[in-house]
Amino acid sequence: MKKIIIITFFITSLLFPWGKTGHRITGEVAEAHLTEKAKIEIAKILSDPSLANASTWADEMRPNPDFQKYSTWHYANMPLDKRYSEHPQSKKGDIVQAIKLCKAKLRNPNVSKNEKAFHLRFLVHLVGDIHQPLHVGRGEDRGGNEIKVKWFGKDTNLHRVWDSEMINTYMMSYTEFTDLLMRNFNSSLVEMKSEEIWIDETQKLVIDVYANAKNGDSLGYDYIYENFDIVKSQLFIAGVRLAQTLNDIFDG
Ligand SMILES: [Zn+2]
Repeated sequence: MKKIIIITFFITSLLFPWGKTGHRITGEVAEAHLTEKAKIEIAKILSDPSLANASTWADEMRPNPDFQKYSTWHYANMPLDKRYSEHPQSKKGDIVQAIKLCKAKLRNPNVSKNEKAFHLRFLVHLVGDIHQPLHVGRGEDRGGNEIKVKWFGKDTNLHRVWDSEMINTYMMSYTEFTDLLMRNFNSSLVEMKSEEIWIDETQKLVIDVYANAKNGDSLGYDYIYENFDIVKSQLFIAGVRLAQTLNDIFDG
């Protein structure tokens, strides 16, 4: 029985971008930076107002056929030498367009509570995704999904290493991880900026990610020591920017 639970957990943990833990960390960091007014407004929209719990919903719904049309919302692909504004936007929608849409829906007093809940859960998720370097990767390798690597001897791909493998290796709960970030980073140093700048900043990081790993590499602790500071700071920055975004919408 225990084995089945462990295997199920293992398989599940592979399926979710930034992994469930990464998204929950971002949600939990954000929650610690919300104003009281923003918390009250969020509780009017979500029956469970925990941003950590809301953060994973957009990935959990992905296998549902009704949600196929939102699959392009989780990322944007562009060549490494082009900034977001210099590259033609995807007609199917991308992560920057989706974040803007979610914000507009939440500000609109004529939008129903159900529709607001949908866009709030998506917004919480996407502000996490846009800070994961390989959600802003190249189209030709599907953001690193086609770069096959070994992680401590096990087959995986570079996208997954960044979504979940590095984070899961530490086997910390999302609350333990959030406590660590809150002690080590200073939210007053995080600049808000716009989603166009967020994506360009993330793209700068992905250039190094591509330079430092290639198809067939065996990765492990050396890779973590070189890259985990980026994972931690991106999760923290995403959380603070999410809180600032929500405070602006609900308490602006
Ligand atoms: Zn996602």
